This record gives sequence, C-alpha cells and structure tokens, in this order.
Amino acid sequence: MPDTLFQKIWDAHTVRTLPSGQTQLFVGLHLIHEVTSPQAFDMLRQHGWRVARPDRTFATVDHIVPTLERQRPFLDVMAEEMTGALERNCREHGINLWSAADADQGIVHVIGPELGLTQPGMTIACGDSHTSTHGALGALAFGIGTSQVRDVLASQCLALEPLKVRRIDVNGRLASGVYAKDVILTIIRRLGVQGGVGFAYEYGGTTIEAMSIDERMTVCNMSIEGGARAGYVNPDETTFAYLRGRRFAPAGDAFDRAVRWWRTIASDAGAPYDDRVAFDAAAIEPTVTWGLNPGQSVGVREPIDAASEDEALAFMGFTRGGQVQGTPIDVAFIGSCTNGRLSDLEEAARLVRGHRVARGVQALVVPGSQAVSREAEASGLAQTFIDAGFEWRGAGCSMCLGMNPDRLTGRQMCASSSNRNFKGRQGSPTGRTLLMSPAMVAAAAIAGEVVDVRTLIPEP
Ligand code: SF4
Repeated sequence: MPDTLFQKIWDAHTVRTLPSGQTQLFVGLHLIHEVTSPQAFDMLRQHGWRVARPDRTFATVDHIVPTLERQRPFLDVMAEEMTGALERNCREHGINLWSAADADQGIVHVIGPELGLTQPGMTIACGDSHTSTHGALGALAFGIGTSQVRDVLASQCLALEPLKVRRIDVNGRLASGVYAKDVILTIIRRLGVQGGVGFAYEYGGTTIEAMSIDERMTVCNMSIEGGARAGYVNPDETTFAYLRGRRFAPAGDAFDRAVRWWRTIASDAGAPYDDRVAFDAAAIEPTVTWGLNPGQSVGVREPIDAASEDEALAFMGFTRGGQVQGTPIDVAFIGSCTNGRLSDLEEAARLVRGHRVARGVQALVVPGSQAVSREAEASGLAQTFIDAGFEWRGAGCSMCLGMNPDRLTGRQMCASSSNRNFKGRQGSPTGRTLLMSPAMVAAAAIAGEVVDVRTLIPEP
C-alpha cells in the first residue's frame, strides 16, 4: 500500500500504543538548549534517573547567549546561570555540548542540520517550537515542552497523538525578489494560524523541489506558526547532496546504504492524504506582516485586508486599507532559525553592497551559528554588512525573542527575518515586529522604511 513519509516514520518508531490512545514513539535525536532543559534535568535528579541515551542527545546554547561580549562569566547573571547549569548537566550525564565558546555553537535548529545530526527518516525532539525546521531533511521533528524534555531524557520516548497529513503543493517559479519566507507567509496567510492544528504538513511541488535545503528549512520552520505539529519535505537528491560529508552523517559505504534507505521513506506516489491544497508560486509576492501573528500578512504593495482585527491594527499603528510599504523602521534584524543561514546572509548582502544603513536605524546581523559566522567572515560577507553600517554579532537567537540584551525599546518598529510577531516578542511590551524575508529586511534597513525589495535588486 502506498504511504506517506509521515506514516512510514511514525510506524517505524512506534514502541506501542498507550492506554491513553497516544503512541509511544522512539526519539532518534534529542536536541537540548539552555532555556527549556534545566527544570527537566532537575526533575530527573529528583527521581534519581539517568539520561537514557546520552549518545542520541546533543546540546547547545542559543536563546539567552549574549551576541556582543562573550567573556565568562557573562554580565547577564541569568544567562550565566542557565549556561552554567547546562554545562554541569551535560558533564554529569555525558552529553555532547557546544557551549558559547565552542566552534560549533549556534541556534539549535541551525547546527543540527549543519553538523549532519538531522537525517531523513529520523524522529527528532527539542524543547523549542521551531523544531519543525528539521523536517526539511525528511525527518519528523517535534517541538516539545519541558515535561516532555524530561520524558525524552529519561526514556528516549515521547507520548504523542497521531496526526493527519496535509499535502501542500507549491508549483511554478518564484519571481526575483520572492523567497522561501514569502512562500511560507503566504501559506499561513491562506490556511490560517490554526489551520494546521492536528496536522503534519508535507510540502511538495516543483517550487519546493527546486529549493535548497536552507530554503526548505525556512518553510518547515514556520509550520508551527500555521498550527501544524510538524512539517517536512520528502528527501531527494538535494537532501543527499547536502548531507554528504557532514560530520555526523554516515560516511563511505554507510552513506550509500543510508541513501538507499532514505529513498524508501519518501512518500509514495498515490499515498493517501487527509487534505491537499495547492499554491501558484507565480502569484506569491514579497510578503510582510502587518499584525500580531504570522498569518496577518499582505503582499508588500497590497492594501491591508484585515477583516476585524482592530486590536492588531491599532497596536501596530496601521489602518484597514492602508499599506505596510513606506512604514518607517527603527530596527532591522537579520538572523534567527528561520533566516540566519549563510544563504540568507548572501541574499541580504546583495542588497546591501554599496549602500549605507539609513540614518537612525539600528541594523543587526546575527549569524545562526558560529560556522555561518566563520564562513561569512572568510568570504567577506561580514565586511559587506559592517561597511554598510550593520552591527555584526555573535551567533544566537538574539532579537528573535529578546532574552538577551538585544531587545527593542518602547514602540520601536522592527523589520525582522524571524518567525514571531506577537506583542512583546522582541523584548519590549510595546515594540512592533514586521516579519519579512532577509532581503526585504536589508532593503528596509537601507531605505529606512519598508520597501518592495524588487525595486532594489541589482542586475545580475
Ligand atoms: S531563533 Fe527564535 S524561534 Fe529560533 S530557536 Fe531561537 S528563539 Fe526560537
């Protein structure tokens, strides 16, 4: 019987059906970080339990880590405490940790794929909502809460409800200036921020197939913002080429054997889906949010089509029928697990080259990992940003959530390449976030206001 990747991975990892009706699922890879793990380790300690599979558990610091001054102890007492706790817990349980000074530190969803830890056919769990990112490589990846982090640490298993699968096809060519970020914002705008509840999203179609793994990660990353529990793309030649030679990927004959198996776990032709929707890539515009969730978005040249979201409009300072284009910005943030990879920085740098950040705008580039940072520095990309007046920071989550000193103040308006725009997300209760692609953020930083990136793209 033809089947979906979702069902094949689910079945292969099912330990048993629990009396609650949930499935006990074996977790192939558990990623942890400094914010959601300390309480989980404390609970483990209270029970006298050990980590069941330290060999399948990997840790990094990302959420609270400072991006400017990394000398220890950190000036931020909370950051030092959380980092110290993770370091102690990992030492005690024999877990591989990339801490602030380590060459492979970075945002957990950036380093997993980068190091080849994320592989097709895996089940992956992490105490962070955007774990769906890893689905870009054909894995089933779930964001979990702190008590579930404890469960996975103790048993390497999770209790989960089975999901339905919605196939989302995007077909055709994206126009110049339209990126993976615009694709996922458009999908969420149409299907709604609750539209994916109870579903895993399977992305396919010629547009998705033509995307790099980085672009697929941007799409899968925001599945959770559309309400889906997971999002994935079937593994293909692009996936295998991405993984070849990565540190934790199989090597030599083992890689070839793995590829043979990875091919079999992709959804079969004729696989049953619970729902199907399709999008035309040619109709997708550079997209920007105007409201307080990622579904409240609009094409940059379109009028805001809010039906009744008066509170969101008032908070953001927009009016129904008005435009986001032309909105002055105070801060520009390029980074996060959605758009903090090298290809994101390359695309943004194309816009920046030869320009200066507008007067009065604070512009930050925060690489998703130290590896991204090193590559950008070696290739001259970092200098391009610095020459244009951007601040070049150390790797971490930074202003995506403002847990470290990188925060909005007052009612600042921020053009951001991250994934969430609710009130207070960037550290100021009255700060305002406009989500968009990294290229759009770069264009806004240069112009000092939201602009249509297509007007600034240099000739090839
Ligand atoms: S970059 Fe933002 S969304 Fe991604 S893991 Fe960090 S805080 Fe979460």
